[in-house]
Amino acid sequence: MSKIVFFSIPAYGHTNPTIAVVEELTKRGHEIWYYSFNAFKERIESAGAKFISCDKYLPELKSEDEKKIGKDFLALIEMVVDTTISLDKKVCKELEDFQPDCIVSDSLSIWGKLFAKKLGIKYICSTTTFALNKHTAKMMKQGVVEILRMIIGMPRINKKLQLLRENGYKVDNLVSMIENDNNTDTIVYTSKEFQPMAETFSDKYAFVGPSFQVPEIEQSDKKEPLVYISLGTVLNKKRHFYQNCIQALYDMDCQVIMSVGEKTDISSFGKLPDHFKVYTKVEQLKVLQQTDVFITHCGMNSISESLYFGVPSILFPLHSEQVMVANRVAELNAGIRLKSDAVSNIKKTVMEVLNDQSYKRNAELISKDLQKSGGASAAANKIEEVCKRLNIEN
Ligand code: UDP
Repeated sequence: MSKIVFFSIPAYGHTNPTIAVVEELTKRGHEIWYYSFNAFKERIESAGAKFISCDKYLPELKSEDEKKIGKDFLALIEMVVDTTISLDKKVCKELEDFQPDCIVSDSLSIWGKLFAKKLGIKYICSTTTFALNKHTAKMMKQGVVEILRMIIGMPRINKKLQLLRENGYKVDNLVSMIENDNNTDTIVYTSKEFQPMAETFSDKYAFVGPSFQVPEIEQSDKKEPLVYISLGTVLNKKRHFYQNCIQALYDMDCQVIMSVGEKTDISSFGKLPDHFKVYTKVEQLKVLQQTDVFITHCGMNSISESLYFGVPSILFPLHSEQVMVANRVAELNAGIRLKSDAVSNIKKTVMEVLNDQSYKRNAELISKDLQKSGGASAAANKIEEVCKRLNIEN
């Protein structure tokens, strides 16, 4: 039996894939602690782990900060450093007592990696996006504003890094803090075939594919195609976009399910035709099993889930990481980038994906690779392998 500690950020996209892994590990008899946030308490506990709340250690998010999510890299680094410092005493004390065999930390909750290094605990990186190295990072094009912000903000970041050093964290520079090299054991929740430039990653990388339990659905004999629209759970306050989708599909012979998030007032759309169903949240894994075309923001989970079920997509990325995902889907001809969110363009693109079966066929090819990658069980194998290797080394 091993003792394993997980860390993640407060985001569904980064937490969801780890839940099935925790479930698998606890089933195999391992003891799991999970440092996370109250919104995920129930899921983590029902997967069998001990949940430890980090909510009160997270810097307070102002409403203007919400707009920066996924866009302002410097703000993210500042948040990471502040969270590490405020969690430092609690986590170090608890982990010194618990003596875990390894820490599995999300690639963005860098504090997990920092604690592992400070306490001399084996670290495994959990990557819910594409794996990043110097080759693939180039594909994530930053805007001019983002680059300028980085340059201007560097002195501020250097001060933060100094603060980490004063608290006993050995960080050489920003790049070494955030980047993982080919010696870092890493779990990536996509297939080797779907990962761009997979040949540039060492065998320390386990490409395990999507990690979720497929929920059962009642089979229905639907006649019209189903269009499913979602911009995920974070940057989903896009009333204008939803309104345009409604207009574009208003007269179309199809069914539409739209998930708009809790920040959008559904009643503001007025009375909708019968073929529209709008919700704040849906059971996406159920909906996707019946979907014919998915209009998506290209969050890595949404894309992995839709491709897993062989669903072609219309790609509407909202920031650079999602652009990289969108480009990969478009490159493999399993979807089309939405050139603009004009009503006529949405309509034309939906028709194109529905009428040209090659998008569906290509999505089904990717689906085969994703389905054979092993998922949660392969991720659990990787974690066990690292723990075993550690026992042999000691
Ligand atoms: N999701 C869901 N219901 C919804 C919208 C999203 O269950 O109505 C889930 C979706 O299945 C996925 C996650 O939320 O697992 C969204 O993650 P993704 O990486 O796609 O985007 P993010 O929300 O992080 O931008």
